[in-house]
Amino acid sequence: LTEQEKRRAREQLEQLLERQARLGHSDVVTYYPPEAIAQRDLFALAGTHVDGTQWAVGDCDHRFPLQSISKVFTYALALEDNGREATLTRVGVEPSGDPFNALEFDETNRRPHNPMVNAGALVAADILGGADVDEKVARLLERMRIYAGNPELEVDQELLDAMLADADRNLGISYYMRSLGMLVGEVEDILRVYLSACSVHVTAAELSEMGATLANGGENPRTGERAMARTYVRDVIGVMFTCGMYDAAGQWANDVGIPAKSGVSGGIMAAIPNQVGLSVFSPGLDQHGNSVRGINVFRELSDRFGLHIFADP
Ligand code: GLN
Repeated sequence: LTEQEKRRAREQLEQLLERQARLGHSDVVTYYPPEAIAQRDLFALAGTHVDGTQWAVGDCDHRFPLQSISKVFTYALALEDNGREATLTRVGVEPSGDPFNALEFDETNRRPHNPMVNAGALVAADILGGADVDEKVARLLERMRIYAGNPELEVDQELLDAMLADADRNLGISYYMRSLGMLVGEVEDILRVYLSACSVHVTAAELSEMGATLANGGENPRTGERAMARTYVRDVIGVMFTCGMYDAAGQWANDVGIPAKSGVSGGIMAAIPNQVGLSVFSPGLDQHGNSVRGINVFRELSDRFGLHIFADP
């Protein structure tokens, strides 16, 4: 990118954020956790180009948990640890059309529908390489630090404890899956790995860099470090495109047309292969658990920059 292109992009992102910030919170139906309503006005937008250029506008220093966005990285490492074929026998790649925490499975193949919903992410956590919980979490965290270009990324212990203490739904899903042989390890261990990944705190700027690492074939474009094997990047970005936005994935693919993953903390991370990683953070959620402003920003970004992968060039 030329200096002029970089500057121009920055101006456009600033204007876009400002305009969207004025639209208020009228479509928001919930916050997770409910106390996050106190942070409702936080709003950040960031992009990292595959040439390493980074734009960060709004509240890009604020840290928030990855929540479901972590599923992308857990799946990526599970693929690397187990290979494509073995991974696919344990977790499918079909959009479920169900909410992220649904007790629904691919009954025919005896596996969760996909790794972007809780059931599938729990399986990914189960098959992750590592002798015990600590090793699995440490391996995953090490990779996340490379994606984000920040060796200091950490699990938020307080959040992890709170989620562990309020995990009936995920425990229910896990015990049910284990009764059907879809999970092999100890349920408490699997849950701890999964929720630790959910509790990793990032800034919007880091999140865009994580997306850029995926867009850049698995190598962080700022640091040059490799976060994942290039072979599996297509699997990960593919499943983000078809399943990344929970039961609104089809709508998103149609309207926005960018591979992305959302989390209930209000973050959305997108990866456009060979171009850019993008992120938005705004805590107000719609009925699917996707950030309301995040979706609006991405709609506008997609339109204005012609980012829809099937857009008329
Ligand atoms: N920790 C949350 C859960 O498992 C994450 C889900 C999400 O971001 N949708 O319920």
